[in-house]
Amino acid sequence: MEEDCIFCQIIDGKREADMVYQDETFVAFRDINPKAPVHILIIPRKHIASINHITEGDKGLMGEMFLVAQKVAQKVGVREKGYKLVFNVGRGGGQIIDHLHLHLLGGWENSGERDVPGLP
Ligand code: AMP
Ligand code: ZN
Repeated sequence: MEEDCIFCQIIDGKREADMVYQDETFVAFRDINPKAPVHILIIPRKHIASINHITEGDKGLMGEMFLVAQKVAQKVGVREKGYKLVFNVGRGGGQIIDHLHLHLLGGWENSGERDVPGLP
């Protein structure tokens, strides 16, 4: 728990969020400023600043994170249609919150609408 971290505050129940999934290791909630019809953030309870800060010991956690993404995609109804998974890393990569988070983006009506600002 990092006192000044917005996402640690959400995990700790000190700040509200629209939760869609929780387990022992992860939480997932809706992005407050969605860039897609469905925009969820999947975050480990453990405070890790970014992909640049993961270590050998986080290998299991990182694998599990993608299984959680699959479950969340199913839960919010985009698993079959498809979605994007994105990590922004560092300021140059567009990261503004320094608590590791995986963006799950989807829910577009058709493939022509699936552009996300700042993504290829
Ligand atoms: P990033 O730019 O990768 O660091 O993404 C941070 C994301 O967190 C942005 O898409 C923000 O809209 C989102 N965000 C910031 N504060 C909150 C919050 N309190 N609840 C939900 N999402 C948030
Ligand atoms: Zn944190």
